[in-house]
Amino acid sequence: MSSVRDYIRTIADFPHEGIMFRDVTTLFADPRGFRMAIDQLLHPYAGTRFDKVVGLEARGFILGGAVAHQLSAGFVPVRKKGKLPGAVISESYTLEYGEAVVEVHDDAVQPGERVLIVDDLLATGGTAEAGIKLMERMGAEIIGCAFIIDLPDLGGRARLEKLGMDVHALCT
Ligand code: 5GP
Repeated sequence: MSSVRDYIRTIADFPHEGIMFRDVTTLFADPRGFRMAIDQLLHPYAGTRFDKVVGLEARGFILGGAVAHQLSAGFVPVRKKGKLPGAVISESYTLEYGEAVVEVHDDAVQPGERVLIVDDLLATGGTAEAGIKLMERMGAEIIGCAFIIDLPDLGGRARLEKLGMDVHALCT
């Protein structure tokens, strides 16, 4: 297998009927696949300094930890509501049905710090936008948003670019 795409498995009807779920656990489980994914996530940022990598729950933690280590940056988790033990700031966003809330510790990023936001997949962009808003409220400088997969038909890339974000994705 020669590209990141080859390691991603598609599972039909998960979590609901009619959804084609892109399963990255097969990519993470393969030593060459995982290394290739991390290397390619980092590629556009060679020579760029970051203070923090911000991972979106949950697969963004797996990627973000490895990316942060490579960049010699800190790692900051953006978690679903109620999971972080300290004082948090919250951001809600709209899902297909209902609303979700993500949170970050209010002291996790300092004003002016340079951050990279990481997640496995960009669909509508709602999750990433909530992470971006949290970082903006903390005064961070968002250098980029990096994903393994972009589903362009769902409009996430356009949505983030409209916010002025630099979006990097390994496959569509
Ligand atoms: P969005 O907020 O952009 O609509 O959805 C992206 C979020 O949902 C990401 O945190 C991502 O992990 C998750 N997600 C949605 N669909 C899929 C999928 O098919 N595969 C994976 N791995 N994650 C998905």
